[in-house]
Amino acid sequence: MGRKHRDFQKIVERIESRIDSWKTKFLSFSGRATLIKAVTSSIAAYYMSVLPFPVGICNEIDRLHRDFLWGHDRERRKIHLVNWRDICLPKSQGGLGIPKSRERNLAFLAKLFWRSQTEKSKPWARICETNLNLSVGRRTIISQGLIMGKEVVRRGSRINIFSGKDTKFWVQHWCKGGILREAISGPLNFREDCLTVSDVAASIGTWDWSQISFELPTPMRNEIAGTLVDGSSDKSDTSVWQFNSKGSPDVKSAYRMMLDYSKGPNAHNLGWIWKIKVHTRVTFFLWLLLRNAIPTKSLLNSRGIDIPNECPLCLSGPESSEHLFKLCRVTTQSEPIPGHYFCLLSVVYLVC
Ligand SMILES: [Zn+2]
Repeated sequence: MGRKHRDFQKIVERIESRIDSWKTKFLSFSGRATLIKAVTSSIAAYYMSVLPFPVGICNEIDRLHRDFLWGHDRERRKIHLVNWRDICLPKSQGGLGIPKSRERNLAFLAKLFWRSQTEKSKPWARICETNLNLSVGRRTIISQGLIMGKEVVRRGSRINIFSGKDTKFWVQHWCKGGILREAISGPLNFREDCLTVSDVAASIGTWDWSQISFELPTPMRNEIAGTLVDGSSDKSDTSVWQFNSKGSPDVKSAYRMMLDYSKGPNAHNLGWIWKIKVHTRVTFFLWLLLRNAIPTKSLLNSRGIDIPNECPLCLSGPESSEHLFKLCRVTTQSEPIPGHYFCLLSVVYLVC
């Protein structure tokens, strides 16, 4: 293990010892989630805001958080009822908002890079600039972090066109639809490759398509034509962060971009459950229920645990979340039997 890795390992050990100190306490699922977000995540955040963490260390921190959340200890492993990626989504997107380490680290570094570029007169920003300009063989851990942050900022930014003279037509992200070169296959000739936006814009609102040696697809042409370019302007094109209204990256928007949850298959809109004024345990139970993650006998069967799955209340159907809350003739009758009602509440208590 290299020295760098050993230094990061100490951060992992701090998180682990904090988690170990909680394991003797009888914490609920909601309590464990809260502790991860409030305490152990902030131990790593302090270092993550300036240093690029090795991927293995990020995975290690995530594993500690994941195991603690589901109540693992050395003797017993528990089933993970919701996958980690979904747990790390923001609450508004159906997750618990527990930070995913790698993406969070990159978001911090994006913010650091952006600040170093916008607060250039400050002594710390000058140190960053020196680090950023070091040649490949002399790069420090700070330069590596800044370069990673720069890449995140590049990915999340779009160029606001004024004169179009500073922006490469094909390879920079200025058009709403994305980087044009990524939508075109095959080689471009050298002259075309070097075109700037102002070379193709004839005047404000009109375009000189003859600059391009082939026919652009109509949707792409329409996207391009929607950009107003004033070639006579002396105003430089500017880079704007796309993921918030401020136009400059903050940790929250950069983290959300890195998670890329909009493209995921599990984008649930469950933000409303956190606004209901009930005990936190009930909210967490509702969250598990709506994610179909209550450990009913049917769910345990589907995870390979071979137990009889008959509902113990009505003895006439497989025990699943849908059965318990919608179909079971005992739990859904108009006059709840106190004992059975209590039974459902105990499920809330035990699970969450
Ligand atoms: Zn039943």
